[in-house]
Amino acid sequence: MDVLISGASVAGPVLAYWLDRFGFTPVVVERAAFPRLGLGGHAVDLFAPATAVMGHMGLLETLREASTESTALRLERPGKRSITVDLRDISDAFADGRHLEIMRGELAAILHAATAGRVDYRFGDSIAELGDHGDGVAVRFDSGDRARFDLVIGADGMHSRVRELVFGPERHWRQHLGGYFAVGTLPNHRELTGLTLLYNAVDRIAAMYPVRQTGLARAVFLFRRGEEPEFDPRDIDAQRRLLRAEYRDEGWDIPLLLDEMDRAEDFYLDSIARIRLDSWSRGRVALVGDAGYAPGPAVGGGTSLAVVGAYLLARALAEADGDHSVAFPAYRAPVEAYARRCREVAPAVLRRGIPRSRAQLRFSETAMRLLPHIPHSIRTRLMAGSASSTLSSFTVPDPPARTPPPRPGGFRAGPAPLP
Ligand SMILES: Cc1cc2nc3c(=O)[nH]c(=O)nc-3n(C[C@H](O)[C@H](O)[C@H](O)COP(=O)(O)OP(=O)(O)OC[C@H]3O[C@@H](n4cnc5c(N)ncnc54)[C@H](O)[C@@H]3O)c2cc1C
Repeated sequence: MDVLISGASVAGPVLAYWLDRFGFTPVVVERAAFPRLGLGGHAVDLFAPATAVMGHMGLLETLREASTESTALRLERPGKRSITVDLRDISDAFADGRHLEIMRGELAAILHAATAGRVDYRFGDSIAELGDHGDGVAVRFDSGDRARFDLVIGADGMHSRVRELVFGPERHWRQHLGGYFAVGTLPNHRELTGLTLLYNAVDRIAAMYPVRQTGLARAVFLFRRGEEPEFDPRDIDAQRRLLRAEYRDEGWDIPLLLDEMDRAEDFYLDSIARIRLDSWSRGRVALVGDAGYAPGPAVGGGTSLAVVGAYLLARALAEADGDHSVAFPAYRAPVEAYARRCREVAPAVLRRGIPRSRAQLRFSETAMRLLPHIPHSIRTRLMAGSASSTLSSFTVPDPPARTPPPRPGGFRAGPAPLP
């Protein structure tokens, strides 16, 4: 069966990998002209369910070697002593390597490399039009090419084109979670290695972490905003002004970071929103990852959810011998169970992670100071409701017993163009 996947970041290549291994013929179309570069993008988390999937793909060691090596967090408080926490002390999954942090570009590059020999990737193109004719889907691409596929899957992220074409405008499915985030690259002027610096204020936080082996660092800003004002996503200068206005009274390294964000070519700002649809499929078209159920960038474990969702979608298609009318509903139930956790975690991370008051600011500082000194058994219980623990404690099923071993490389042609 020929399956067109839109998007080659996380969900797309994971789905392509498993479809290929289960005997389908995936083709991936990606709007970007080239595969993502190794160390671009932001740091993302692979919690235990996602590392379990990566283990079945034989990629765990490669991912571990490429992880950010960020193992400690230091809260810097101007005029007061800083507080440093070793993340391995507070998270068992982090300590034993079941929770990895990696740059999204690096993750996408590893996933692309794992599939490139077998999957047909078409970079620099995008789906322009879809027509589900019951027995197949006719696709016209921006490039003008036309082709017919048995199934089409949107793995094209928060602002998914496939979702828009099949389910309608994003505003129907988008829920603002009450915050904004911004991210950008700057020189690693604090010479950080393995350490993330954190600055907390009422209603806003900022962090800075090194990008391994590059001499660069990323700055991240998260701030609370109840409303979601309209802004032009292409007007980067307006977004920089919004960030500056929000942080203008803050101390620490903030003035320097704001100057760096004015220069950062990859500066990115967006509201923190999630995607919720009643159904993740219509006919022969389905959604996976952020396109279907983004829990909120930077707060909800979206990367792990994308990995788990892609694997379980491919698995459901294999179990149903490609019958999408059986596989698409079967895919939803287990993924929804994990997505529900991610949806619960995201607002809680915003609520607890960005202090609302001076009292909450003091409370979180005290908690950070005390946590490493609490005995392990009590700490495990205290951390049971934490975001990291909630997102780690989900079990993905093994691949079906009859799954063939990974296939040797060898390029496969895509489906024949429409006459
Ligand atoms: C600043 C930031 C920080 C984040 N931090 C974290 C974190 O700490 N932890 C975490 O787990 N997650 C984090 N996330 C979320 C995480 O990046 C996503 O949940 C994850 O990447 C989802 O993967 P995906 O493959 O579904 O979508 P995406 O990674 O968004 O990929 C979509 C792909 O589709 C392509 N595409 C888009 N439109 C089209 C089109 N029309 N045609 C063809 N291709 C198209 C895009 O170029 C992209 O390659 C963060 C996100 C952001 C933006």
